[in-house]
Amino acid sequence: MALKFRGVDFIDFDSLLSEDEILVRDTTRKFVEDNVIPGIEQWNRDGVFPRELVRPMGDLGFYGASLKGYGCAEMSNVEYGLVMQELERGDSGLRSFVSVQSALVMYPIYAFGSDEQKDRWLPAMAKGEKLGCFGLTEPDAGSNPGAMRTRARKDGNEYVLNGEKMWITSGSIADVAVIWAKVDDEDGKVRGFLVETDRPGFKAVDVHGKWSLRASVTSSLSLQDVRIPAANILPKSDGLKSALMCLNQARYGIAWGGVGAAMAVYDCALQYSQFRKQFRDQPIASHQMVQEKLVWMINEISKAQLLVLHVGRLKDKSKAAHYHISMAKRNNVAMALECARMARDILGANGIADEYPVFRHMANLESVKTYEGTNDVHTLIIGQQITGIDAF
Ligand SMILES: Cc1cc2nc3c(=O)[nH]c(=O)nc-3n(C[C@H](O)[C@H](O)[C@H](O)COP(=O)(O)OP(=O)(O)OC[C@H]3O[C@@H](n4cnc5c(N)ncnc54)[C@H](O)[C@@H]3O)c2cc1C
Repeated sequence: MALKFRGVDFIDFDSLLSEDEILVRDTTRKFVEDNVIPGIEQWNRDGVFPRELVRPMGDLGFYGASLKGYGCAEMSNVEYGLVMQELERGDSGLRSFVSVQSALVMYPIYAFGSDEQKDRWLPAMAKGEKLGCFGLTEPDAGSNPGAMRTRARKDGNEYVLNGEKMWITSGSIADVAVIWAKVDDEDGKVRGFLVETDRPGFKAVDVHGKWSLRASVTSSLSLQDVRIPAANILPKSDGLKSALMCLNQARYGIAWGGVGAAMAVYDCALQYSQFRKQFRDQPIASHQMVQEKLVWMINEISKAQLLVLHVGRLKDKSKAAHYHISMAKRNNVAMALECARMARDILGANGIADEYPVFRHMANLESVKTYEGTNDVHTLIIGQQITGIDAF
């Protein structure tokens, strides 16, 4: 039975939002309802990314939404977050695509790029005419990207790149890859490079057999003597901290996305529990243990909303620290995953079927918990902040 999402607001959260913020949220919600919900289970089943949604999302200003100029929508951080929430209510894979395009490709070009790079890429990326990917992770360098092996060597007016990147969202559909590499001539300092994906020596191969984020493209990248003009270096990228600044942008969006996924599974479980009857012809919502699960979910969703809104307001005042964002990402994704597991339980056998969105969200959230800093890594970031001790 198809259940229509009704929105989730137990604490009158909307009273904390401006009219513009509610408009952005509702516009995105409608887009997801009309364009994502009807197709997502089939795309997920088939393991395909819905390419037909790329341009419509550009028309709505979803890419680089909080950047200024270059045809971007110039949203506040809270508005951008609400877009991420609604997209992830549809599917984490779709939100991942938009996060990568916005926070991991447009943002580094915007923050570390030359004027020529910005003019060339940002307007086209804002429209969705050009797509990007972000290559940081490697087969042997995940949580510790400083162990990366990818190298860039200066050769006259060119750089020559060699290395392997792994688990790269949108890798095989990207026109440009932001590749992080250690530069030979700069004592192995990490810098960002814009690599057009049609350069000789660049190859992207998709990862198949994923049980998670099936409606998102995930690829490995191989760079073998890939030559790029020296002008393709991101001139203001300055060590691994530049890559981490990009991750901060993406993690912020993910924290909102977690709320969206949790809302989807909570609302589904609540509706299901009200019509599914077991024992004495009573809806399962009348049983105390089912209510306890639903109450846990709405309680945690409400707290997560407040946390991420607060971080968003701080971010709008340029006062959000990386450890604030770590707390929001860590809390909200773990919360969403727990909600998904509880919702699956409430749906009984139906919880494993893709007639309902619960198992898809649950499987997606396993990736979301791992990428952009695992739950453990964010624990250590917060631990370091409060104790002053690096426990990595
Ligand atoms: C679907 C998907 C899409 C992705 N997209 C991208 C992308 O677009 N670009 C990109 O660059 N990367 C991407 N990633 C990679 C992702 O960021 C990494 O998977 C993540 O950083 C974790 O690295 P790892 O998988 O190598 O795990 P590992 O680093 O090997 O960690 C394995 C386990 O060890 C734990 N661990 C590691 N170090 C410590 C420590 N010091 N203390 C305690 N525990 C520790 C971790 O928490 C985890 O539980 C993606 C991943 C997935 C699954």
